[in-house]
Amino acid sequence: MCYNCGPSRRSFTTLLAAGAGMAALASCSPDTRVAPPTSAPSPSGPQAATPTPTAATTTAVPSGAASEPPSGAPPSKAPPSGVLSQQFSLSDPASQWVIVNKHRPLTPLQFVPADLAQPRVQLAVSGEASLLNSTTAGAAEKLFAAAASAGATMTLASGYRSFQTQTATYNGYVSTRGQASADTASARPGFSEHQTGWAFDIGDGGGACSFEPCFADQPAAVWAKANAYKYGFVVRYPWMLNEITGYYYEPWHLRFIGVEAATDMANRGIGTLEEYFGLEAAPGYP
Ligand SMILES: [Zn+2]
Repeated sequence: MCYNCGPSRRSFTTLLAAGAGMAALASCSPDTRVAPPTSAPSPSGPQAATPTPTAATTTAVPSGAASEPPSGAPPSKAPPSGVLSQQFSLSDPASQWVIVNKHRPLTPLQFVPADLAQPRVQLAVSGEASLLNSTTAGAAEKLFAAAASAGATMTLASGYRSFQTQTATYNGYVSTRGQASADTASARPGFSEHQTGWAFDIGDGGGACSFEPCFADQPAAVWAKANAYKYGFVVRYPWMLNEITGYYYEPWHLRFIGVEAATDMANRGIGTLEEYFGLEAAPGYP
């Protein structure tokens, strides 16, 4: 998400007028945007919940759970099964499977990745926003190179965001719009995936539609939606799954979870990390 880049309120207003609905947004940054109804939703529904505080072992699924569901049945909502060679914590912010949403703040709230690094990719930002954790930076380099080879140039539009930066952004919204409105436009400090170093927003090399609904139709977004899983990334806030993720469609926001898990999610047609890991839906702050 993100909305740090100069947004176009005009397009937002137009969408609202068109009945596109409220924009929620923002775990990322400051602006409010609505996503366009351009893509087909992944099959899924709110998931019942069983927060898994710690480790991976608690998320493991009995062997056999990975088998294909009967025809017509909804996709398995079970977390990674025995087909995955490794399990990771869902609550440790240094884990590639950490789940951060409106029900699950970072612990500690002011977490700072220990291994921030600037990926060797085309940057559209500088400073802390050009950083990612080292694992994600390495994976991003492969992702961007593969996209470029396919003719879809990507830029890194917003990466790491510190607790302090998120606090300033969020408080700015609260002071000008009030908390209710602020919560639709910016993640609360400690609740943004951008603070983990595992997520970033992409732009299109052509520069069009950054952080705007029409980004979904740009080459970078089209390529990422179809191929990002091969490099360990998921489009974290898919179209029409905001009741689960808490955020409207953000075709630019990618999250690293590892190639194995991302591929498993894609193969099983599961759209959100909440469903994949068997966690409760997090449509809003408690
Ligand atoms: Zn983002």
